[in-house]
Amino acid sequence: MATRKKTAKKAARKAASTKGPKYVYTWGNGKADGHGKMKELLGGKGANLAEMTLIGLPVPAGFTITTEVCTYYYAHKRTYPSTLRAQMEAGIANMEKIMGYKFGDSEGFPLLVAVRSGARDSMPGMMDTVLNLGLNDKTVEALSKATDNERFAWDCYRRFIQMYGDVVLGVQKREGEDHEPFEEVIESFKHETYGKDIVDSDLTAEDNKELVARFKKLVKDRTGQGFPEDPWEQLEGAAGAVFSSWMNDRAIVYRRKYGIPAAWGTAVNVQAMVFGNTGTNSGSGVAFTRNPANGENELYGEFLVNAQGEDVVAGVRTPDPVSGMEQALPQAYKDLLKVRKILEKHFTDVQDVEFTIQDGKLFMLQTRNGKRTAAAALKFSMDMNKEKLIDWQTAVLRNPADQLDQLLAPVFDAAELKKTPEIAKGLPAGPGAASGKIYLNADRAAAAANKGEVVLLVRVETSPEDLRGMIAAEGILTSRGGVSSHAALVARQMGKVCICGASGIEIDYDKKTVKAGGQSFKEGDYLSIDGTTGIVYGGQVATEPSEIITGLINGKKSSQNTEKFQHFVQLMDWCAKATRMGVRTNADTPEQVKTAVAFGAEGIGLTRTEHMFFEGDRIDAMREMILADNETNRRKALKKLLPHQRKDFFGIFKALEGKPATIRLLDPPLHEFLPHTKEQQLDLANKIGIPVETIMQRVHELHEFNPMLGHRGCRLAISYPEIAEMQAQAIFEAAAQCVKKGIEVKPEVMVPLVGYARELELQVEIIHRIAAEVKEKKGVEFDYLVGTMIEVPRGAVTADEIAAHAQFFSFGTNDLTQTALGVSRDDMGSFLNSYTENDIYPRNPFASLDTTGVGQLMEIAAAKGREVRPDIKLGICGEHGGDPDSVKFCHKLGLAYVSCSPYRVPVARLAAAHAAINDGSAPKAAKKATKKKSAKKAAKRAKK
Ligand code: PEP
Ligand code: MG
Repeated sequence: MATRKKTAKKAARKAASTKGPKYVYTWGNGKADGHGKMKELLGGKGANLAEMTLIGLPVPAGFTITTEVCTYYYAHKRTYPSTLRAQMEAGIANMEKIMGYKFGDSEGFPLLVAVRSGARDSMPGMMDTVLNLGLNDKTVEALSKATDNERFAWDCYRRFIQMYGDVVLGVQKREGEDHEPFEEVIESFKHETYGKDIVDSDLTAEDNKELVARFKKLVKDRTGQGFPEDPWEQLEGAAGAVFSSWMNDRAIVYRRKYGIPAAWGTAVNVQAMVFGNTGTNSGSGVAFTRNPANGENELYGEFLVNAQGEDVVAGVRTPDPVSGMEQALPQAYKDLLKVRKILEKHFTDVQDVEFTIQDGKLFMLQTRNGKRTAAAALKFSMDMNKEKLIDWQTAVLRNPADQLDQLLAPVFDAAELKKTPEIAKGLPAGPGAASGKIYLNADRAAAAANKGEVVLLVRVETSPEDLRGMIAAEGILTSRGGVSSHAALVARQMGKVCICGASGIEIDYDKKTVKAGGQSFKEGDYLSIDGTTGIVYGGQVATEPSEIITGLINGKKSSQNTEKFQHFVQLMDWCAKATRMGVRTNADTPEQVKTAVAFGAEGIGLTRTEHMFFEGDRIDAMREMILADNETNRRKALKKLLPHQRKDFFGIFKALEGKPATIRLLDPPLHEFLPHTKEQQLDLANKIGIPVETIMQRVHELHEFNPMLGHRGCRLAISYPEIAEMQAQAIFEAAAQCVKKGIEVKPEVMVPLVGYARELELQVEIIHRIAAEVKEKKGVEFDYLVGTMIEVPRGAVTADEIAAHAQFFSFGTNDLTQTALGVSRDDMGSFLNSYTENDIYPRNPFASLDTTGVGQLMEIAAAKGREVRPDIKLGICGEHGGDPDSVKFCHKLGLAYVSCSPYRVPVARLAAAHAAINDGSAPKAAKKATKKKSAKKAAKRAKK
């Protein structure tokens, strides 16, 4: 009778579980419903567990509840689809069959499960996990009997109540409490019983039993309810907690930083537990298949004997290097090395794995592409290309554009470093050099950074709660934890300098002091950390440029001989091969031009001529010109400026060696140039010999309420054409000088802030007239272009009219963003945070292009410009030209080039190469297509 009932139940379960959408994907025993390419539905962890199972690696059986359930959960007031339970029951039944244990079994070995989150992109430590689920007062006895290991069984149960109590039942630190409540119970028990702090693995079975009782009481006191005994109630509670943790504060902060959409949701993975804590023939570890800090081809990571995985990453016990496994667990170590090879060959990328050894047998619990520093990414990509694991295009893609500037980051000044005492040593967890004021708490660190201080966050260990402080800090230093602790993982990913486990430093949170090397430091004092060597220095140390900079810019031979330098050059060569779009630079001096050209800039995309007047006493002549109240006086002042300008332009043309230079006519927001203080006004009056009262009066007249939208850009030269005349004369005379000296020159004269075709027409007429006059007078010929910036919405939407007078457009996306959004580019600090926190701005629109709004204006302008002038040259010179996402958009729009500050040039080159490789236009399109064809193709792409 009972069997018939059971069979009927089973059949009903099967029928229910196959109805409607599939929410549960199982894996185990070499078979899996899913595979590695299903990350959107199964999350990264679930997809890769399936994949590892399919390629025959030892993975404990389990199932994934899909990300669609997460979406459903939030769309339906945190409830589940009606068929989910039946599908989960089928999933558990499959695990029971493979593992040979029963979930909730109070007689034989009970099946215990781990419940973990798993988003599409990994979010380390941000969401919740519950281990050892399925234990209760009965199953713990069964586990004890089946393993003949009472200590182990009660250790698991104690851990389970603690994790479940914290994560699912919310028994956590309250405001005003210093410690986590469960930790408090353990600490006082240890002191009561042993009179001192002992490690958890020294707790006996009896100790753990006592702790279980105390934990349960704590849960009852805090929640008013008993601890759930029913394994199914436990499982549903844990799944709900994981889904809920998608919306916890730290996950939201993390998503915002890494641009992960909230709509993706997380999957939940339920996997059969294997145990690293059964004794000294067991253990748990995490490892990277290569060194993620410096890229060396070596297994890198750590492990702990007789421990569960959480012990390794929590940073509470400092684990041993994974190489130590060779001695401690030799067979498992050999197996792990084999798995390392298989994984790299299969995934063709460096993997970050979690594993457990249960009674000598290795099990793989996770694999994912390892997070890495920019230096490691570069070395991985070059080495794997040499090993024929990846082609050169993939190697380029393996270097994230937004991390590349880490390679250009400074190192400590060697001479100063020698004079600064070493006060401690820890594990080098995030390379680079950082020197800053120390803060021992994330909030205070963030507040100090907001005030403009360079900050080091110093903690015993970090937890996800410290994220805000870590983002704000230049570097992170911890006294406890290994190279895969939370601090290390997060720091590496953010490209922060980091030292972990510097056990020689003593941190006192109450007194806000750090003691090390016999010295004591207060909050606000300077420390310096070298994340490449792991050494902590007492005091401030100046930094110096990286070897890439010294090799490229200063031509230093010793830098050029380093592997890192050569890899960088190779990467840039591949970028050149892949790229369709050029990269220019925004530069105002020959030095800036040289730096940018060394980085591979193909010319200047923007010279801001007004910036040239900040030097020496030119500002006086500039002020005299601005303040002049009649043409005669203005021309007098302009005459003084002419030779300076001519000399500057000549210097720039020479430094460019024939590369094009887009020189923009004057665009000074007036308030930046006026003498505002009494002192400045008096000084100027003396210098130019006019009464200070006249200057005061004129400053008053010229005052603008909204200078960004005032008498600037071409408006100035429309009112005073002699300004454009002088500048055109300086440009063309410098060009003539070059021609005479045999220097190739390609000036492109650019008119700013054009919104009406007529504005441009008037300026173009002046420029052509002056060019003809200079050619005539100097008796030389040279080519030049005249174009305009598109930086106000009216200019964008009337681009067809404007194109009649312009040979090129350059998108001034700083002003275009300012005017399209109606937001001052200088005054958004007060509301930017609330706008990003409320998901209004996905990112600061002045840093990363608002592709939907401003981008649409650019699309309109590009299309209209091309209609009238199919070969019109299009570029961008706003700050967005150095932002990888914006560069991608510019590629899609078919721009000829992006222009950015000199140090961003490599970043832009890499981003442009990525864009071309990803859309399949690299490398053939760039080589074969004629100019016209490229323009046509680009126009087509833009329409798409
Ligand atoms: C722009 O507006 O994008 C631009 C490049 O010009 P500026 O920043 O000088 O206004
Ligand atoms: Mg502008």
